[in-house]
Amino acid sequence: MSIIRTEAIVLKQFDLGEADKIITFFTKDYGKVRAVAKGVRKSRSSMSGIVLPFNYNLVTIYRGKSIDRINQVRNIFSFNRLREDLVKMAYASFVAEAVEKVSQENQANEALFALLLSTLHKIMVAEEGLPYIELIFKISLLVVLGLKPQLDYCAICNKKLDYWERNFFHIQQGGLICPECFQDNQDEFRLQGFILSVKMVKTLTNIINNGFKSLAALELTEREYRQLDQLANQFIKYHLELQLKSYDFLYMIKNLGET
Ligand SMILES: [Zn+2]
Repeated sequence: MSIIRTEAIVLKQFDLGEADKIITFFTKDYGKVRAVAKGVRKSRSSMSGIVLPFNYNLVTIYRGKSIDRINQVRNIFSFNRLREDLVKMAYASFVAEAVEKVSQENQANEALFALLLSTLHKIMVAEEGLPYIELIFKISLLVVLGLKPQLDYCAICNKKLDYWERNFFHIQQGGLICPECFQDNQDEFRLQGFILSVKMVKTLTNIINNGFKSLAALELTEREYRQLDQLANQFIKYHLELQLKSYDFLYMIKNLGET
């Protein structure tokens, strides 16, 4: 049996037997880790308030042959303000589920860890602009997983691109394509493509290069936002094959106009 000690964010938890829970963490040093929190549902457990979703903790875990077990947990930052707000909770749940689905056990990704932590923090402190935070998260997720949309060179023929009034973003090819390749692939493009203005290409570039630092400068019309959001969703669906339960709930919340 070995012992690991690492920073860890709670992604989800479910009950096990009478008194225990299984907690799924995304850890800084070991990627995704699932571990049993023994006796956590007993009223005197000191652990119960700490292993709640989104909390940022320092954990010590015994790694067993078949199951890992939490030995000690100390809270670094509690995201309880997130859990108290239904709308923010919906956004945070989507973010946590996405990280849970794309991450692997025993495979550290420090950039993904940092993205998760900063996204939860942005959601928690946001007074407005939650959809923008979600959009930046989705595009940054692609970047940290090595699936950055290609915007400088044609994703088919690799020619350096000039930006025009209409720019052709091809989901399946993973980025912009040149006018010639667009002409040759029009049928496919109709199903897989988005036509982007120069402003939208620049917005995407800014998000890819600067992550949340681009947030303050982000100014999109409702139509532009919806188009970039759909582009990000389709790109994620095609290239990461993600189907997220929490997205349906988030989508419903967003459409209630409460964002
Ligand atoms: Zn081309």
